[in-house]
Amino acid sequence: MPSISLISLVAGQPVQPSGSLTVRSPYSGDIVGTVGLASATDADAAVAQAVAFRATPTRYERSEILGRTLVALESQRDDFARTISSEAGLALREARYEVGRTIDVLRFAAMEALRDDGQVFSCDISAQGKARKIFTTREPLRCAVAITPFNHPLNQVAHKLAPAIAAGTPIILKPSEKTPLTALKFAELLRQSGLPGPMLSVLLGPTQEVAERLVRHPDVEVVAFTGSVAIGKRIALTAGYKKLVLELGGNDPLIILDDADLDLAVTLAAEGSYRNSGQRCTAVKRILVHQRVAEEFTQRLVARTAEYVCGDPLDENTRVGTVIDEPSAIHLETVVQEAVAAGAKVLVGGRRSGALIEPTVIANVPRDCRMIVSESFGPLAPIVVVRDLDDALDVANSTAYGLSSGVVTSSLPNAIKAVRTLRCGTVNINEVPGYRIESSPFGGIKDSGLGVKEGVIEAIKGYTFVKTFSLPW
Ligand code: NAP
Repeated sequence: MPSISLISLVAGQPVQPSGSLTVRSPYSGDIVGTVGLASATDADAAVAQAVAFRATPTRYERSEILGRTLVALESQRDDFARTISSEAGLALREARYEVGRTIDVLRFAAMEALRDDGQVFSCDISAQGKARKIFTTREPLRCAVAITPFNHPLNQVAHKLAPAIAAGTPIILKPSEKTPLTALKFAELLRQSGLPGPMLSVLLGPTQEVAERLVRHPDVEVVAFTGSVAIGKRIALTAGYKKLVLELGGNDPLIILDDADLDLAVTLAAEGSYRNSGQRCTAVKRILVHQRVAEEFTQRLVARTAEYVCGDPLDENTRVGTVIDEPSAIHLETVVQEAVAAGAKVLVGGRRSGALIEPTVIANVPRDCRMIVSESFGPLAPIVVVRDLDDALDVANSTAYGLSSGVVTSSLPNAIKAVRTLRCGTVNINEVPGYRIESSPFGGIKDSGLGVKEGVIEAIKGYTFVKTFSLPW
């Protein structure tokens, strides 16, 4: 792929770069592209242009912009997939899947742009009431800031931008410096599709000058952040008086009960652990399996894991590409070594080469190991044997996270008990924790988030405020 050269944007226009960022393939080390960086002055200018903007497109125009972007992205599916794969190291098939999800985000946002969720309250319904009506209307905010992680370079960005556009709210995006090319290419599609310049700035630059300055800026009305717990909590401390949407890390369990369909359980465990190189906030990060089926399940998962070919992300046969960089792969290797030192056993995988780490099944993992209590962001499948459903639910709820979960069972009472007991944002029965559609409410509690949901419909609420007005009729 030829090297891509892009520049940060203020109000849709390239900045005068104050430096340059080189993006390299995590697999080959080859240069994928360069990005012209923005400065603190650009960050201030982006906020000023957003706040001053008044020519908000109509609902119809917003929907059309999103619809045209969808058509443009569809026509460049393969090109976008290759950019994602090249800069993130994700297998091409994963990158193609991500483009498909982003098309859904655009479609749902285009639909939602047309929908008015205003309500009418008759006031003559109480002894204290009057013959008036109260109406609600949803109004855009003046300026939103979105900060996104590396693991879904396109879809995470679309989940921030498309709802803001549907809402009519100008937004400033600070994408991950590890995967900025996809974000800037997507911004170009939106611009070409008619998005007014002041409605979107995309800034890459030194953290203090750009990301932290935007987070603290008094004229920014909402910060929507997706990323690690540590940075999310830092943002919560520094943002000051503004709305916050925090989508943070996860440590999701897949619970497999003794009444489970084991074929399904193996498929969900492998797909949940290895898709996207295990780098999904909702990847399966702990497999909690009932003691009666543990041995058979483990044997079958080991056999299935061998099918996940790990290697060159751009090779059509590869199912697991690299993780984001070599230090991350070394970290995963260390986490596995720690578990082994504590008594766990690697049954398959575990070898590392540069930023590649093989899909790895680890059995007999003690419940207090780092890979059980914290998030490990890679293709690891740690197995913990549990006594029964109650034990599984205790282990599932025992960490600081509360993003999502999956339960494999054929029993409705067990499923209902799990739904009621698991302290997390989502419970998927007979599905991976990550299962969702792009418009359904999504988000975690505890260290995984503040319980404010995203997903296209909820995100639009985050980028707007509800005004009520009343009329004497
Ligand atoms: P990260 O290190 O927290 O970075 C996320 C973003 O924050 C990047 O754009 C990063 O910029 C920026 N950032 C870094 N320091 C900052 C600061 N002081 N102030 C403001 N922004 C700052 O996360 P990551 O490693 O990219 O992504 C992986 C994490 O994201 C995992 O924990 C994963 O679970 C989580 N995640 C959560 C969800 C969810 O919906 N709950 C979804 C996907 C991922 P730089 O690139 O310049 O460092």
